[in-house]
Amino acid sequence: MLYIVLALFLLALVFFWQSNRQRKAAGLPGGRLIYTDTRGWGKLEKPLFYAALELTGKPDYLIEKNGQIIPVEVKSGRAPDAPYDSHIYQVAAYCLLVEKTYKKRPPYGLIHYQNRDFAVDYTRELEESLLDLLADMKRDEHKNEVPRSHEQAARCMKCGFRKVCDQRLM
Ligand code: SF4
Repeated sequence: MLYIVLALFLLALVFFWQSNRQRKAAGLPGGRLIYTDTRGWGKLEKPLFYAALELTGKPDYLIEKNGQIIPVEVKSGRAPDAPYDSHIYQVAAYCLLVEKTYKKRPPYGLIHYQNRDFAVDYTRELEESLLDLLADMKRDEHKNEVPRSHEQAARCMKCGFRKVCDQRLM
């Protein structure tokens, strides 16, 4: 259990960490605005896990549609103009976990904000960018200090680590 909690913590940390730099390098998709019907969304019993990458995560929902499995991440806040990089990486990680677990590659994942939804295409480029990010995380996980990768005070305001982070902006 501690292992899973630590892995989730690291995953969350890395999503907030290098996203701007990676997005610029990878040209991440911004997400397509779509309509979704929440009927038929299924909850997961337990997190998905991929041992080769020591990656774990629990999408809020999985949708089965036309033989495909689509992961959904639910955000409580109102939608930004385009999904945040950290949210895109989170959904990409869920797509990877779905593919490894169910042996089916999701064509996209969904981010469900309070007022609208975005589809994030799970392209090969996005997958490669995610793998690069995870490799960077692995390389740096034993460092005592990892520099902040952004100048967004609003992000720090909402961050779950702000009480312990000495680089917060606020
Ligand atoms: S408080 Fe700000 S700088 Fe620190 S981890 Fe959170 S988002 Fe990053």
